[in-house]
Formats: sequence, C-alpha cells, structure tokens
Amino acid sequence: MEIEVVTTVRKARTALKRPSVARKSFKRVTRGRGTKKRVVRQKTLTWYKKELDRVFSIYIRTKYPKVCYTCNKPGTLQNGHFIVRKYLATRWEEDNCRPQCVGCNIYGKGMTIDFEENLIRDLGAERVQEMKDKRKELWKLDLNFYLEKITLYKEKVDNLQNTQ
Ligand SMILES: [Zn+2]
Repeated sequence: MEIEVVTTVRKARTALKRPSVARKSFKRVTRGRGTKKRVVRQKTLTWYKKELDRVFSIYIRTKYPKVCYTCNKPGTLQNGHFIVRKYLATRWEEDNCRPQCVGCNIYGKGMTIDFEENLIRDLGAERVQEMKDKRKELWKLDLNFYLEKITLYKEKVDNLQNTQ
C-alpha cells in the first residue's frame, strides 16, 4: 500500500500558536489508492513517550504507599521525579521516582532537597549519586524502547495488583 506522509507546516506558526502536545502525538497520514484517499492519524514517538509516562506513573503510584514521599500527606498523587523529567536517561528510572502530592510536585517544584534526603535515607548516597551521574547519558529512544518499557510496566502493574 502506498503511504504518503503529509507533514504539517509549522514554520509559519508564531510562538503564541505553539502546537499542543496532543497534536504532536499524531501525524496525519494519507492512505488509499488512486483518487480514493482517506486521512488517518498515525501514532508518533511522542504518543508512545506519553503512553510510557502514563503507564510508568500508574506503576510508581501502585508500588508505593498512598502518601506523598516528601510531605507524607495523602491526597491526589502524581509520579514525582527527583531528577527532573527532561533527563531521559533517568525519566523512567524506578529509583528516581516516588508518589508525590500536587503541592510538592508542581508548586514545590518537586521539593528536590527533601526528595534527595529521603532517597539517600532509603537507597544510600551512592545510589543517588549514580543516578545523578546517569542523567546526562544520551539515550536513543526509538519505538522499540517505548514498546518494551510500556509492556514491561503494564505487566508490573498487573503483578502488583494481583498481589495486593
Ligand atoms: Zn507532598
């Protein structure tokens, strides 16, 4: 089947009209023969990255007690990262992540110093330093990486739910 990839012209967009993450998650692909063409939305790597974030977040929040790692309060919990998510080499590192409340994760910008103190208490300073060193590694994140990790963490969530 002939697949023609239609790239969206984004150069003309102003900074104010930045495309949303959701829009970046799909690319428009035209499929079909001859004059009969239909436009479908094909998942991009951005979609798989978001899906891995989603599954991994469920895993972290299922694995640990239902309280915030840095203030100990219950409530709406998110997957908090000690080393911020922009470092892809530690973004899906289990030791780097704990459940965190919105107050600490968003408004407290992750409460990094408290987070680090607790991780050193729980994992040891050596392991924490190891992750800090690892963060700058450059990883090639392709479709296989995302598919493997998504499958792995879906299985881990299932296993945890079956033993709880
Ligand atoms: Zn908190």
